[in-house]
Parts: sequence; C-alpha cells; structure tokens
Amino acid sequence: MLFTPTVIKNLLKKPATRLYPFTVREPFPNYRGELYIDIDACIFCGTCARKCPSQCIEVDKEQGLWTCNPHACVYCGICRDTCPTKCLHMKDVHRKPMTERIMMVEKGEPPKKKKPAAKPEAKAEGTEAAEPKSGSAAAPETAKAEAPAEKVEAKKPDAKKPEAKKK
Ligand code: SF4
Ligand code: SF4
Repeated sequence: MLFTPTVIKNLLKKPATRLYPFTVREPFPNYRGELYIDIDACIFCGTCARKCPSQCIEVDKEQGLWTCNPHACVYCGICRDTCPTKCLHMKDVHRKPMTERIMMVEKGEPPKKKKPAAKPEAKAEGTEAAEPKSGSAAAPETAKAEAPAEKVEAKKPDAKKPEAKKK
C-alpha cells in the first residue's frame, strides 16, 4: 500500500523515453552528422587532410581533387572547424547503412599558380649608377667617390721625399 501513490503517478505521467524509431528527437545545434563540401569555395590548402585524426581525407591541389572515405570518418568535426574558407559542413543526420564501400570525390577548380615577381631591370643591371650622364644628379656623387683616390695620389710624392734626401 505504501507504493500505491508512486504507481499511480508513474501511470499518469509521460514516459521518460521515446518510442524510437517512431519518435525521433530533433537534432542539436551544430550536430555532427554526414560530411559534405562546397567544392567551389575550397582552396585546396590541405588543412582538413592534415588535421583529420582518421586520415580519411586526401587533397590534390594540382588536380583540384578533394577525396574523403566516409566509412573511416568518426564525425569529430575537426575538418569542418579548421577549414579556413568554411566550405565543409555536416548534416544533422548520420549516413545510412550501406552494403557497398563508397568514396566521396569532388572535383573543383585548382588554384592558379602565382607568377614570380619580375625583377626591376634598372636595379639588376646597375647601368644608372655605373654610367651617370653629364649634368645629372648623380654627377656630384661620382665626384665625391673619386675624391679619396686623388688624396691617395697626392700623398705619393711625400712618400718619395726621403729617397731624394738619401741621394
Ligand atoms: S581545409 Fe577547407 S579549403 Fe582547405 S582543402 Fe580542406 S576543404 Fe578545402
Ligand atoms: S569529421 Fe573528423 S574524422 Fe570525419 S573527415 Fe572530418 S576530421 Fe576526419
């Protein structure tokens, strides 16, 4: 008789569990379900492949290929969270069981290679500094540069003076 109120209470209130699969719970926000990619936004940087703990992603930058083995994916969401362009997404459901192995292969536009910056010709050849035009602004600088040589030559006769004394 002591348990009668508890029994009546449990009979009247809602059950604590759901009648799955007839009743399915709404997914949580940021649910980590099936992975998919917006290949047009992918820059093929390879971050997702490097960060994936199960190593199920491969990125071919030259060919513009992004490949994932969904059977090896553990739905951790690291690839999605570390993608710099946020082109990886996860659905709010998990992949359904299947009897055949599949590979997710997405083909995009590989990034164009950057051309090496052209070297400035004037600096590379050094023609302006070596051959200054007369009357140009570089003329005084060359005169200054030649000045030390003149000083050295001017000292030479002084060095010969002792020899003259010997004679
Ligand atoms: S991290 Fe994102 S942008 Fe980089 S290769 Fe992976 S999917 Fe593409
Ligand atoms: S969700 Fe995790 S296991 Fe799955 S592909 Fe992304 S990083 Fe790899």
